Amino acid sequence: MSGLADVAVVGAGPVGVLLAAELARRGVAAVGLERRADAVPDGGDGDGGREVSTHDTSGDRADAALRSRAVGLHATALAAMEASGATDRLLAGARLVRVGEARRGGRTLGVVRFDRLHARHPYVATLPQPRTEAALARTAQVWGAPAVRHGAAVAALIPRGDRVEVRLDDGGALEARIVVVAGGIRARGLLPLPAVARPYPDHYLMTDCGDTSDDGDRAVVHLDPRGVLESFPLPGGRRRYVAWMSAGEGDPAARLREAVAQRSGSDAAARAVDDASPFGVARSGLTAMRAGRVFAIGDTAHEVSPIGGQGMNLGFLDAVTLAPLLARWLREGAEGAPSVSLRAALDAWERARRTAASRSGRIAAVNTMLGRPSRAAGAEAVRFALATPARTVLAHAYAMGFDPAARSYRVPR
Ligand SMILES: Cc1cc2nc3c(=O)[nH]c(=O)nc-3n(C[C@H](O)[C@H](O)[C@H](O)COP(=O)(O)OP(=O)(O)OC[C@H]3O[C@@H](n4cnc5c(N)ncnc54)[C@H](O)[C@@H]3O)c2cc1C
Repeated sequence: MSGLADVAVVGAGPVGVLLAAELARRGVAAVGLERRADAVPDGGDGDGGREVSTHDTSGDRADAALRSRAVGLHATALAAMEASGATDRLLAGARLVRVGEARRGGRTLGVVRFDRLHARHPYVATLPQPRTEAALARTAQVWGAPAVRHGAAVAALIPRGDRVEVRLDDGGALEARIVVVAGGIRARGLLPLPAVARPYPDHYLMTDCGDTSDDGDRAVVHLDPRGVLESFPLPGGRRRYVAWMSAGEGDPAARLREAVAQRSGSDAAARAVDDASPFGVARSGLTAMRAGRVFAIGDTAHEVSPIGGQGMNLGFLDAVTLAPLLARWLREGAEGAPSVSLRAALDAWERARRTAASRSGRIAAVNTMLGRPSRAAGAEAVRFALATPARTVLAHAYAMGFDPAARSYRVPR
């Protein structure tokens, strides 16, 4: 057993690293434990597109491959990360998407204006996830967070009164006053909490490639009868395509190329697709976010369908809002149970984050449903909604304006 840490963070994905940075700026040195042998390279200039994982259906592939999953950073999370300096670092490499457009058969159904949001960051900032992780790792380093221990896979967490024993796969162990599990969905078994899961039947192909479309800085959602094609601008003159696909055989890149050509109507855009990765989607989560001295945040606590584009942002808000409470517990003496008022604050935190996850999950579920092969009536309903004030509500929802944490980061009217 080596030493007693104040906090151990399991998992150095985006959420765990942000938590370490938020703790470090409050003077708490958290021990970061990551089972991957190496840090995720930042993918270089716009190269994140070659870095793909699925929603974890592929087991170790998720580790072997460099990952570009999340690309969208939303207004509320950007505002929440300002104090640490992470937001400036993220925005330095990001592309700003101010308008989203829904189309069908080449016809515009309507637009969603992020630039009309009453927010400090009236846009969706796009950045491949490996570059987001690199910017957060730099932020943690600048605040003096200890270097993450790579190759440290946590096998079990054992409560021992005023501390938690953290057992590693390799037989090593350490102890911490508080443990936060930010290890994604596969780390859920570390907590003594039941999980609930709702897999969706949908399958997608995605790629990040050169942007040869005519869509510029616009995000476009093609509501095609054959299933949705989402098209998001990325930094470095690149674009992400995500297409709903029926089950089928054949070369994924060729199938995605065909979907891009048919659904966007642009052969030029389709020609840039030279690679594609499949992924499936689910909504799942733990039934609580805390068991004594062990907390769960990010995907460990709640996974939402990536078709909503909010999972990572949700985890960021978990981390930013939990850090001050953990720092307070340590200040008040974490060898004891939390004081009555801290316990109330921790309960309120958990309620708020579970509400946030449930709202995000609903938005993502609607998005997932809208992306299925659609009848014209569905597209008409979208056209109607985007012609009314409902489109402002939609922009607000995608920017995570309905997250309870948004209240703290709203700009006064
Ligand atoms: C195709 C796709 C597109 C997406 N797009 C978006 C988007 O645009 N916007 C958005 O907000 N979200 C998006 N998401 C969701 C987003 O990728 C996840 O929500 C996010 O990665 C969760 O971060 P995390 O840090 O909680 O978990 P992870 O990213 O899963 O990181 C967990 C880390 O913990 C490590 N780990 C696991 N178990 C252990 C252990 N036992 N011991 C030590 N280390 C461990 C893992 O190796 C990993 O590094 C998308 C997801 C997919 C699949």
